[in-house]
Amino acid sequence: MIRKDVVVVGGGIAGLTAALSLAHNGKDVLLIEKNEECGGLMNSFERGGFRFEAGARGLVNAGLVKPLIKEFALDIDILANPITVGIEDRMLRIDGEQSLYTYADVLKELYPENKDEVDRIIQAIGEIVEDMKVLYGVDNPLFAKKKRNVLAMAPSVVSWMLKYIRTMYRITRMGTPFEDYLDMLAVNQSLKDIIGQHFFRRTPVFFALSYFALYNDYIYPKGGVGAFIQEMVEAIGARGGEIRYETEIACVDAHDKRLKDLAGNEYRYNKMIWTADLKGLYAMTSDEGIAKQSQDKFRTRKQAILAHKGAESVFSVFLAADLPPEFFRDKASGHVFYTPNRRGLGTVHTTELQTLLQRWDTVQKHDLYAWLERFCQYNTFEISIPVLRDPDAAPPGKTGIIISTLFDYALTSRIRARGWYEEFKRRVEELFIMTVSSSIYPNLEDRVLFSFSASPWSIYKRVGSSEGSIVGWSFEGKIPAVTSMFKMGSSVQTALPDVYAAGKWVYSPAGGPTAIMTARIAAKQCM
Ligand SMILES: Cc1cc2nc3c(=O)[nH]c(=O)nc-3n(C[C@H](O)[C@H](O)[C@H](O)COP(=O)(O)OP(=O)(O)OC[C@H]3O[C@@H](n4cnc5c(N)ncnc54)[C@H](O)[C@@H]3O)c2cc1C
Repeated sequence: MIRKDVVVVGGGIAGLTAALSLAHNGKDVLLIEKNEECGGLMNSFERGGFRFEAGARGLVNAGLVKPLIKEFALDIDILANPITVGIEDRMLRIDGEQSLYTYADVLKELYPENKDEVDRIIQAIGEIVEDMKVLYGVDNPLFAKKKRNVLAMAPSVVSWMLKYIRTMYRITRMGTPFEDYLDMLAVNQSLKDIIGQHFFRRTPVFFALSYFALYNDYIYPKGGVGAFIQEMVEAIGARGGEIRYETEIACVDAHDKRLKDLAGNEYRYNKMIWTADLKGLYAMTSDEGIAKQSQDKFRTRKQAILAHKGAESVFSVFLAADLPPEFFRDKASGHVFYTPNRRGLGTVHTTELQTLLQRWDTVQKHDLYAWLERFCQYNTFEISIPVLRDPDAAPPGKTGIIISTLFDYALTSRIRARGWYEEFKRRVEELFIMTVSSSIYPNLEDRVLFSFSASPWSIYKRVGSSEGSIVGWSFEGKIPAVTSMFKMGSSVQTALPDVYAAGKWVYSPAGGPTAIMTARIAAKQCM
C-alpha cells in the first residue's frame, strides 16, 4: 500500500501541470499514468528518423505556457510556429492581426457575390480578436511568479481585471453555436462552410471564431511538443514528485480515500486530482461515504456525465516524403489549415453522415468510400510539417508531414465492427495524400517513403478518452461541466470528498490552455 499526500491520476498536460505545481510547493505527490509515457494528447514520437506530433501539433501560448516555462525554469527553447490559411491556390501566411483583412480580400475573391457577407463575418472575427488580446494577449498576471511586488503590479492587474471581466461577459453572451451565428451573418453556405467546417459541431461562436487570434499565438518547442512534456516530467522528479507509468487506475474508493490499479496495487491519498476521463471516475464511484446532503447532487452529476458523449475526434495521416523541406516551404509555412475546394462540405459531415449511420446495416463498402471521397474533397485539413519549424525533425533532404481532419468516432467503431477497419484506414491514407497531392503539394504521392495513420479509435485506446475526443464534451446537448468563465474556479470540484478534477472534461470549451488553467486551480485548492 502506497500512501501519498496528493495523488494525481492521468499524466496528460493537466496531470503534469498539477503534479508539477504541487511538487514545486513541497507536496508529497504521486502522478499515475496508464501508458508507458506521459503527455496524453500532447506528445511526439519518432519513426524512421522522422519526428511527428501524436496529438496537438504545437502549443497555444494563451498567456499560460510561457509563464509556466519561466516559473518552473523548464529548459525549453521556443521556436516560431507560423500559420498559413489556404483555400485552393490562395495561401495566406498569417503575420499578425492585420492578416485578418488580407483574409477578407481572399474570401471576397473567392466569393465575389458575397462581399457584404464577408465583411460582416470579418467584423465579428475582428471583435473577438480584440477580446482575445485581453484574455490571452498578455501573460495572465494572476499567474505571475513573484507576488512580492504587489503594489507595483496593482494598477496593471486592476486595469487588466476590468477588461477581463468585460470580456468574460461578452464570451458568456457569445455561447451561441457558430452555425446559428454564421446564419445571421451570411447566406452563402460555401462561405459559411469555409469559415466553420474545421470546428466541432455546435462549438460556441466565441471559441470557434477566436481561432483567428490563436493563429498568432502558436509556439513550437524545440524537439517537439514531446520535448516540452519530457521537461515537465523531469521537473516533477527534480522536485521530489513521483511518477508511476503503466499503471491504470481501475477502482476509486472515495469513502476510504483509496485507489486501486489494474494489477491490484493500492494507493491512499489525503487529496486526489483526477485528470482522466470523468466518465471513468464517476463510473467507478458510488455515493457511499458522501455526506447525506450531497448524495443527490452526486447522483445527478453522475447521471449527466455518464449520459453525455465526447466531441468529434481526429483522423491523422503521418507520412515521410523524399522531398526537401524547401519544396513545402515554397507553398506554405509548417502549420497549415487548408481547404482544397471552395465549395465546402455542405451536408457531407452532418446529414449525409447521419443518413449513412442510420442505414448502416445496408451500407456497402462502395457507399462508404463514395461518401469518404466527398468528405476528403471538400473538407479542411490541418497540415503540420515539424521540420519547417525545427530542422532536426527529419533526415536531411526529407520531410515528415501530418495531415488530419475532424472525424466521427461512431463511424469508425461501426467500420471496426464490420471488419473493414484496416482497409478503411489505408483508403483514408490514400485519399488524404491524393487530395493534397492534387492541390497544395503537387505530385507528393509519387514521393511518399512510408505512411500510416491514427483514427478516433486509436485515440480512444491510447488515452481512454470517450469517443476519442480531443477536447472533452460534445457541444451537442447539455454539457455536464462548467461552461462559464465566471465559474471556472468551481469547475475542479467533484461531488466526492477531497477529490478534485482537472483537464478537458471539467470545463468546456476545452483544449491545452484550459487543461493547464484548471490543473493550476485544482493544485491550488489542494494546497
Ligand atoms: C491532433 C490534435 C490536435 C490538437 N490541437 C490542439 C490545439 O491546436 N489547441 C489546443 O488547445 N488543443 C489541441 N488539442 C487538444 C489538447 O491536446 C488536449 O485537449 C489536451 O492535451 C488535453 O489534456 P488533458 O491532460 O486534459 O487530457 P489527456 O491528454 O487526455 O490526458 C489524460 C491522461 O490520463 C491517462 N489516463 C486515462 N485513464 C487513466 C487511468 N484510468 N489511470 C491512469 N491514467 C489514465 C491517459 O493515458 C492520458 O495520459 C489537440 C489534440 C489533438 C489530438
